[in-house]
This record gives sequence, structure tokens and C-alpha cells, in this order.
Amino acid sequence: MGSHPEQLQIIGGGLAGCEAAWQAAGLGCRVVLYEMKPLVFSPAHQSPLLGELVCSNSLRSAAVTSAVGLLKEEMRCMGSLIIEAAEVTRVPAGKALAVDREKFAHCITEKIGANSLITLVREEVKELPAILPEGSALILATGPLTSDALAESLLRLTGKEHLAFYDAIAPIVAAESLDRNIVFQASRYDEGPGDYLNCPMDRSQYENFITELAQAQKVPLKAFEEQKYFEGCLPIEVMLDRGPETLRFGPMKPVGLIDPRTGREAFAVVQLRMENKEGSQYNMVGFQTKLTYGEQRRIFRMIPGMEQAE
Ligand SMILES: Cc1cc2nc3c(=O)[nH]c(=O)nc-3n(C[C@H](O)[C@H](O)[C@H](O)COP(=O)(O)OP(=O)(O)OC[C@H]3O[C@@H](n4cnc5c(N)ncnc54)[C@H](O)[C@@H]3O)c2cc1C
Repeated sequence: MGSHPEQLQIIGGGLAGCEAAWQAAGLGCRVVLYEMKPLVFSPAHQSPLLGELVCSNSLRSAAVTSAVGLLKEEMRCMGSLIIEAAEVTRVPAGKALAVDREKFAHCITEKIGANSLITLVREEVKELPAILPEGSALILATGPLTSDALAESLLRLTGKEHLAFYDAIAPIVAAESLDRNIVFQASRYDEGPGDYLNCPMDRSQYENFITELAQAQKVPLKAFEEQKYFEGCLPIEVMLDRGPETLRFGPMKPVGLIDPRTGREAFAVVQLRMENKEGSQYNMVGFQTKLTYGEQRRIFRMIPGMEQAE
């Protein structure tokens, strides 16, 4: 059996914990997977299912010419559960691998449940064990929203300065509330119909939008949040703080998206990606935000094609 442990304890049934459990079981290792849902939910998790995606439904590019695409291909070659589930539940998203999050989590939960080497224990682990039994190992995979009790236990081990969390909302809109006379279908740099819906803005629409966004009301930070940002997932208002053009060179970049009605690129574009297989919901790409719900409604309805967005 090589040098791997015979028994593995994994805390956390998210993407990391489920993948680790799957791979270890594939090597013949007995796994006990602890997941606290549905007894305890973090502030962001809502579903009792394993492998719940709490924010974007995109796992980013699937093109092997990109680093993230190559990583996914390597995972696929290694029999990854996450990649298998993503492929089965894929929704159209151009070059990105995006999933129907509900079906994705169902698929992972079923596969883990059906694996005879994995025992799923629905329980909150509150303390890291001081000593592990001979021949066993532990993986902590509780993600950025580790429960308070376990985080305390971890703090005692690592020190406070290494733990941080910041939350932002990723808006989802109903497809039927979009104005199809304005939004156009296209994937960036792609010919053909494309998988994204795009809301084009001219210069004055963009300037009005960022003026209102700069003044909009935000949700105050919670006690567990610190203003340390993950640069790959900045809230739009934080991006705007960095300069009036930042959004136009970030999630609102218009390059490679030709509006068929004008034959040209717009000044800025908001992209919408399919959220579920039915295509009844779309999410706003790269639009994580701390705006209050009321302000989201007011500000996002300034986007052409989203005037009636729900
Ligand atoms: C609000 C929010 C938005 C995010 N947005 C993005 C994004 O857009 N793109 C992106 O790539 N990443 C995003 N992330 C990061 C995201 O969490 C990771 O990409 C991914 O979910 C990490 O997987 P994980 O398995 O490490 O953690 P998770 O998916 O969070 O899974 C951890 C699991 O551990 C369980 N758990 C926690 N504590 C305990 C305990 N004490 N005992 C037992 N079980 C426990 C939880 O219930 C959960 O099921 C976001 C995170 C949050 C919270």
C-alpha cells in the first residue's frame, strides 16, 4: 500500500474535503469525512449537500493553454471527483467550466455516499485532536468559513494573524427579467452565437454607473471580517476605489465582444453567465459586491438591458 495512512479523518465536506476523500478512497484508504451541515451552517452555506459552491458557479477556464485549465486537465487525468461532477453538470460558459451548482452538489453527495470506503459523519468538529492514532492522518478542509469553535482551536495552533475572512455577495438575476432587445449573446473573442449575455454601455452610461456606485450604501463589515482582500475576487466597489477605469479594464472590459446591432465593441460591458441548466437564471460575472440589497437593485438597474432585473 506504499506510505499512505490506512485511515484518514477529513474535516469539511466542501470541494477540498470531498476531493481528498475520493482520492484517498481510490488508494484503498478508509476515510471518515466530517461535515457539520445540516446541524450547523456557516454564514454563507445554505444547502445540506456536500460540495456546495457558495459564490460563483464558474471553475474558470477549461482551456489547457491557461494555468487553471491545465490544472483541471491534470485533475481529470487523476480521476477527480470535482471535475467529473463539473463535467456532468456543466452549463454553457464559453471557455470556462461553469456548473449548475445544485446538480453539481447533488452529484458529489451521491458519489461520496455510494463509496463504501468513505463514512460520512454529520457533526461539527470543535477541537483539533492533540494526537492521532497510529496509521491515521487528518486533513483539515473546513475552508474560509471554519466554524467558530474549530477556528479557536486552530488559532491556538497557528496564531491570529494567519486567519482572515471577507464576504461579498454575487448577484443572480432572472433571465425573463432581462431586456433581450438590448442584451446581446456572445462569448469573448468567439465567433458564433456565444454562451454569455452582454449588457453594452456607452461612455455616459458607464460614467453615470460608476458615479452612483461610488456613493452607494454598503453592508458594514461583520465582526469576523477583516478588510484584507483576495485580489482575484475583489468587490466591484473596491475595484472602483482604485480608479474610474479599473472596472472597464476588469469585469466590465468590452474587448472581444461585438454588439451585433452596432458591429462594434461597446465602451463597457456587463457579462451575464448562465447559472442553471434550464437557463432561467444568470449571474453577473465578476460582480461580487458589498452593496445592500436595495442599492444592488437601484444601481444594477442602471445597466442597459437590466432596467427591470429581478
Ligand atoms: C462568500 C464566499 C464567496 C466565495 N467566492 C468564491 C468565488 O467566487 N470563487 C472561488 O474560487 N472561491 C470563492 N470562495 C472561496 C470558496 O470557499 C472556495 O473556492 C471553495 O469553496 C473552497 O472549498 P473548501 O472545500 O476549502 O471549503 P468549503 O467549500 O467552504 O467547504 C468547507 C466545508 O467544511 C464544513 N465545516 C466548516 N467547519 C466545520 C467543522 N468544524 N466541522 C465539520 N465541518 C465543518 C462547512 O460546512 C463546509 O461544507 C468564496 C467563499 C465564500 C465564503
